[in-house]
Amino acid sequence: MKTLNDFNFENKKAIIRVDFNVPLNDKLQVTDTTRIEAAKSTIIKVLEDGGSCILMSHLGRPKGKEDQFSLRHIVDEVTNVLGVQVQFVDDCIGDKVTQAVTNLENGEILLLENLRFYEEEKKGDVAFAEKLSKLGDIYVNDAFGTAHRAHASTTIIAQFFNDKKCFGNLLAKEIESIHKVLNDNEKPVTAILGGAKVSSKIGVIENILDKVDHIIVGGGMTFTFIKALGGNIGNSLVEDDKLALALEILNKAKAKNTQIHLPVDAVIADDFSNDANTQIVDTTKIPEGWMGLDCGPQTSINFAKVIANSKTILWNGPLGVFEMDNFATGTIELGKSIAKATKNGAFSLVGGGDSVAAVKQFGFANKVSYVSTGGGAMLEMLEGKSLPGIEAISN
Ligand code: AMP
Repeated sequence: MKTLNDFNFENKKAIIRVDFNVPLNDKLQVTDTTRIEAAKSTIIKVLEDGGSCILMSHLGRPKGKEDQFSLRHIVDEVTNVLGVQVQFVDDCIGDKVTQAVTNLENGEILLLENLRFYEEEKKGDVAFAEKLSKLGDIYVNDAFGTAHRAHASTTIIAQFFNDKKCFGNLLAKEIESIHKVLNDNEKPVTAILGGAKVSSKIGVIENILDKVDHIIVGGGMTFTFIKALGGNIGNSLVEDDKLALALEILNKAKAKNTQIHLPVDAVIADDFSNDANTQIVDTTKIPEGWMGLDCGPQTSINFAKVIANSKTILWNGPLGVFEMDNFATGTIELGKSIAKATKNGAFSLVGGGDSVAAVKQFGFANKVSYVSTGGGAMLEMLEGKSLPGIEAISN
């Protein structure tokens, strides 16, 4: 695995694929700089070596050149975070860009316009990738969030650099964290899988079944398992076409000696609303007209015990509808247990869009070992798939 440390960037122009797909408000101001901060150490390393950086990214899902998706809107914020004035050119290929790159001096940063203003980017167009490749001496991929896409700037471009390509610090850290959880772990290993549906997590469950000692199941997918086991789940979220699969997973886990822990009680509501009436009941005895929206207090106690004994922890997906205050407790209690285990020496990795939002919202981001920046990319790695953006650097 080639990383930044394998290169000295003195007098070199690094073309770096970053993930600056940051959220903007209606005034087109950046509302969360996490992704910019995550790329900082890579950019600073190149500058400190005495090189220059050409940064390329996508932003949103533009249909052609749409000003609201221009990377121009984030220049000031990138400058603030990096502490270095960032230059901007309003295209990503063509004469204007070539000129700006030629003028770029060591120690300087140039941000290119949104790659997705060209449909060639998502199509993985080879000619477009080759034009991008001409802008730099060394290609650095630091965009974990798009590493599962074979786009021009994330994958196809790498073929034009022979051995002059590497992972940025962020991407290297993401790969290392997942490796640490799945392959190079200290036992017992516990994976917590929450979120809405079993169907979106099947690939992950199947891949990790013989790599972990415990799987904690929570969130909406709980009820597919409970129904499969014969429980009454009322109006809770369920995937009826996955009942057989849920049983199969439970049987496979038993055969592999992996313990699956299901919630024993649930906070149920008579409406999908924060103002609904609620009660706490056994997860197998949910009355008609009521739905489980969070795990209950006994479940939190049970899960805390498993987590306290774990040396390696992976968390993907919230344990309840944490967006509503009245159904956030299970997710908060879980966050507390993971933070405590981490303080006691466990390695904890949190990933997947909604669990990342939850750890940030409830203040746990600094209390776990690593928070992944990539939702889909992380899920695919947990499913055991090799990601094209990673393959392209490794080959
Ligand atoms: P996912 O993207 O699959 O990780 O799902 C995340 C979503 O699952 C969040 O928006 C949660 O509100 C939702 N969720 C968690 N628990 C439940 C539940 N018991 N019933 C319905 N939705 C849930």
